[in-house]
Amino acid sequence: KGEIVFRDVHFAYDPARPILKGISFTVPAGKTVAVVGPSGAGKSTISRLLYRFYDVQQGVISVDGQDLRQVTQASLRAAIGMVPQDTVLFNDTIAYNIRYGRPDASDTEVETAADIAQVGRAIRDLPQGFNTLVGERGLKLSGGEKQRVAIARTVLKAPPILILDEATSALDTTTEQEIQTALDLVSKNRTTLVIAHRLSTVINADQIIVLRAGEIAERGTHAELLAQN
Ligand code: ADP
Ligand code: ADP
Repeated sequence: KGEIVFRDVHFAYDPARPILKGISFTVPAGKTVAVVGPSGAGKSTISRLLYRFYDVQQGVISVDGQDLRQVTQASLRAAIGMVPQDTVLFNDTIAYNIRYGRPDASDTEVETAADIAQVGRAIRDLPQGFNTLVGERGLKLSGGEKQRVAIARTVLKAPPILILDEATSALDTTTEQEIQTALDLVSKNRTTLVIAHRLSTVINADQIIVLRAGEIAERGTHAELLAQN
């Protein structure tokens, strides 16, 4: 479930300046496709369109064969998990932050032991470093810890579709590797769109799309792209 198709997608924030100039690609259900390219190429715009922050101006985006314009933003958000570059947390418990975004999470709900246990189960299978977070409170987390919270949130939400938008770009090399290991686990068997600026961080993607100035310049596996260059 969760096949994503972009067909001849055009988009501009300002009509005088096209950002995406006819993009076509498919993320088969359960597979991972990475979009790489220089800053300003339009990579994040692709993830914003998939999340329906904006609608396409020409072309079609569909999920499981359904035109995104016929899908409500609420049901889209329930179906998509997002790990951004900088996760913004609430000044509340980590358990609250992890549960946030679930349809059954309410703003006023008091944290119960059961809630915390639920979060604990969600992160039990993730690499070390997750379990110590659950009981903590507050915003003074490092970048890597914030990304752990975002990943745990995704595990709990269990969406069919995952967007990883530069999820490790702000991290130091050691932390990046830890977080990457967790992301590989979470994206397994999920339809995943990865946005990255370096080819070396998306070696395991089923397909890599190189975006330059709003157009697909190349596509293939990591090995295929290396052989071409
Ligand atoms: P390429 O050699 O770059 O893979 P093809 O000649 O196979 O391109 O593709 C023909 C057309 O189909 C192009 O317009 C291309 O954008 C589109 N296309 C190629 N692969 C996909 C895909 N996985 N999903 C959607 N459209 C695709
Ligand atoms: P990338 O993720 O590849 O760095 P983006 O998709 O974020 O690129 O941005 C592509 C282009 O669109 C950039 O030139 C950027 O300045 C412009 N852009 C992004 N967001 C907006 C916006 N909300 N309004 C106007 N222009 C924008």
